[in-house]
Amino acid sequence: MTPLKNFEVWFVTGSQHLYGPETLKRVAADSQEIAKGLGAALPVQVIFKPVLVSPESVSELAQEANTAKSCIGLVIWCHTFSPSKMWINGLKQLRKPVAHLHTQYNRDIPWSSIDMDFMNLNQAAHGDREHGFIWSRLRLNRKVIVGHWQEASVQNKLGAWARAAAAWNDWQDARFARFGDNMREVAVTEGDKVSAQFKFGYAVNGYGVGDLVARINAVSDKETDAQVREYEDLYDVTGDLRQGGGRHRFVREQARIETGMRAFLKEGGFKGFTTTFEDLHGLEQLPGLAVQRLMAEGYGFGAEGDWKTCALLRAVKVMTHGLKGGASFMEDYTYHLDPAGKCVLGAHMLEVCPTIAAGKPKLEVHPLGIGGKMDPARLVFNAATGRALNATLIDLGNRFRMLVNEIEVIAPPQPMPKLPVAQAVWKPKPSFEESCAAWIYAGGAHHAAFSQAATSEMMEDFAAMADVEFLLINDQTKVDEFRKELRFNEVYYALNRGWAI
Ligand code: MN
Repeated sequence: MTPLKNFEVWFVTGSQHLYGPETLKRVAADSQEIAKGLGAALPVQVIFKPVLVSPESVSELAQEANTAKSCIGLVIWCHTFSPSKMWINGLKQLRKPVAHLHTQYNRDIPWSSIDMDFMNLNQAAHGDREHGFIWSRLRLNRKVIVGHWQEASVQNKLGAWARAAAAWNDWQDARFARFGDNMREVAVTEGDKVSAQFKFGYAVNGYGVGDLVARINAVSDKETDAQVREYEDLYDVTGDLRQGGGRHRFVREQARIETGMRAFLKEGGFKGFTTTFEDLHGLEQLPGLAVQRLMAEGYGFGAEGDWKTCALLRAVKVMTHGLKGGASFMEDYTYHLDPAGKCVLGAHMLEVCPTIAAGKPKLEVHPLGIGGKMDPARLVFNAATGRALNATLIDLGNRFRMLVNEIEVIAPPQPMPKLPVAQAVWKPKPSFEESCAAWIYAGGAHHAAFSQAATSEMMEDFAAMADVEFLLINDQTKVDEFRKELRFNEVYYALNRGWAI
């Protein structure tokens, strides 16, 4: 994956000619200093852009930003007053995400020396209100961040936005491969791929499993050997699964699948993929370990043809790049309903990403109850404990909805020596009952993008960039109020966009 420092956000200051060249020079110098300060604090580069003083300069900047590949968004601030009619044509054209940073160069009012020069320079208190008006008047999405630019909370909010912008940028023109179709008759994993491409910028296309099998069959023994050695270095591989052992062939087969899948994805320029155990024609095993390792490299993944979760997981991996904590495809699998400690056991048949593991994963081979194939190799581990979230994206017919639940991953109350898959055990917020009820009322999928590093703020910023409905289930959630929000949103989205996206 591309390091986030390869991307730029442009620091844009609004002003006007009225103030004369001396003041504008000062505005530019102050802005440069702020851009530099933010650049040191953010995960992306912050590039100072010349102060905007005319309608033409705003339009030119918007066009430049739209076509600049490295530019993932703009941070806009009005140090002095910048009349907003001069922004209309430019903002109409702008296609990159925006954070409106409502800050002031000077943190404090110099009470004993303040004069009209100070007042005329530090005008964001009213200049940014004029700017906010035009964004609201044009009904444009942006994130408003308030506070002094050196304050950690301001920089963190901007950082969350920048991470979301990087993920949004990554989705534009992204390609996701679907091996086979949906798991038959499943509803939530379906959706309108044309709407998704229009709304989100990524394309999902299907490929026959035979195309993948052909690529797997082209994998050389030498490539498979190298792959198998890597497993023995990285994971706990024991007994007859090691090279020369009686069941090593099961591991070797998965290594061949992994190498072939990686080649297919690289050659096609894909950022993620889906599989389905109902379409494995010609594959000797359900891809398990192979999927786990490709996810760990940054590929999005959805099982059973779930392309929406695949794309969402990829976005989460991009936005959390470089942070502590992993991200995985996840499914709410089984409940522990003991009143003393209700919790969810999340897992999948095989495909849980080892970036979320608490320790060194163990490579194991076990029979799979469904699919009728050779016993697949997989990594088995417990997820690291601590705060995390589950995010889902569903297609409601007239719109997409993103739903996020904040959760606390706990150590399994007891060991599960007979469970042959990787798993995470968590307590959802605000409580087991309220979380599940809210999620189910909202129609959230049984699949999710699980992340230990993403925050609700990043996800909300991302949803705003995508211009989709965002619903959060956390400590503050009351199910009654949440149900009202669902009803209000039905009306809002019907009126706001009608039935066509
Ligand atoms: Mn599933």
